[in-house]
Amino acid sequence: MRIKKKIRNSVNIISKKLFTNKILNFFNINTVFLNYHRVINNYDFINFLRPNDDLIVTTKVFEEQIKYLSENFNVISINDIHSKNIKDRKIVLTFDDGYLDNYINALPILEKYNCPAILYIATSYLDNIEYPWWSKVWEILLNTKNIRVDGKKFEIDKNEEKIRLYGYLCKILISQKKKIQHEYIKNIISENNISLSFHKKEFLTTENLKSLGNHKLIEIGCHTHNHENLKNLNENEINYEISKSLNILEKILSKKVKHFSIPYGVKKTFTRETINLISKYNFQTIVTTEHGIFNKKNCNQIPRIGIGNLDVKDRLNSKAIGLDSLINKILRR
Ligand SMILES: [Zn+2]
Repeated sequence: MRIKKKIRNSVNIISKKLFTNKILNFFNINTVFLNYHRVINNYDFINFLRPNDDLIVTTKVFEEQIKYLSENFNVISINDIHSKNIKDRKIVLTFDDGYLDNYINALPILEKYNCPAILYIATSYLDNIEYPWWSKVWEILLNTKNIRVDGKKFEIDKNEEKIRLYGYLCKILISQKKKIQHEYIKNIISENNISLSFHKKEFLTTENLKSLGNHKLIEIGCHTHNHENLKNLNENEINYEISKSLNILEKILSKKVKHFSIPYGVKKTFTRETINLISKYNFQTIVTTEHGIFNKKNCNQIPRIGIGNLDVKDRLNSKAIGLDSLINKILRR
């Protein structure tokens, strides 16, 4: 009886695998772009409350993920996506925004497993000169128990309440220009008599970036200067965001920056015209965070799949083979 069950299970697994392979071949899914943001140490992850768990992985989980990917896939450099000498089931690792932990925590693990990656830098955060609005909002909520926002009072004693309000504020602020985001946060601070200095140093320094730029496993890409929602900007403003960032990066790195990542990257943050405008800079690739399949003929709108702390084993595999993104695209999730 037990042997029969084992055989049935094995047949099940094999047929599932064959079926999956057929789908992957049919849609010609051979390269998948994965997207990370932060890789924080295990102590911080356990001890600090935070939203957006899907944008954060611990070093422990990150190592497990990179080990699995390096053993089961071909983790390649973004510069090799057209190479014919590399076998299928290719993975491109990408990191957005330019967090310091990419250098401190992620790089040693990438080195250990010899995995290339690209880091997209939003240059206004470099050297911690600017502080992103999402970090300010979270820090405000973390340090308050009651808060008045838009004339409404919120009790945010519990973590779930803070996360819920954070989600609500993010939805409002992501669609605003930087100036309005700044005003909105300033109003919350003054209306609630909050005194916060926003002193955390979470981003790369120029020195870190220089050393990453010289590293054989690391490619540096552009993520604009101010990380604005490009859908809100006119042509001149978009040109400013790209050229300012390119100038800073190319001066530090003393080489050409060939790749671009759209801030936020979801559909509500860019249009066909935005892509056309960015394309004028002749980037070799432009990545989004939309779901879909990477088609080598269209390197101007490459979909990527976000990887979080829960993405291990089967979950990671389903994302890494591209099936997850394809299904989400079909379901328009
Ligand atoms: Zn970003």
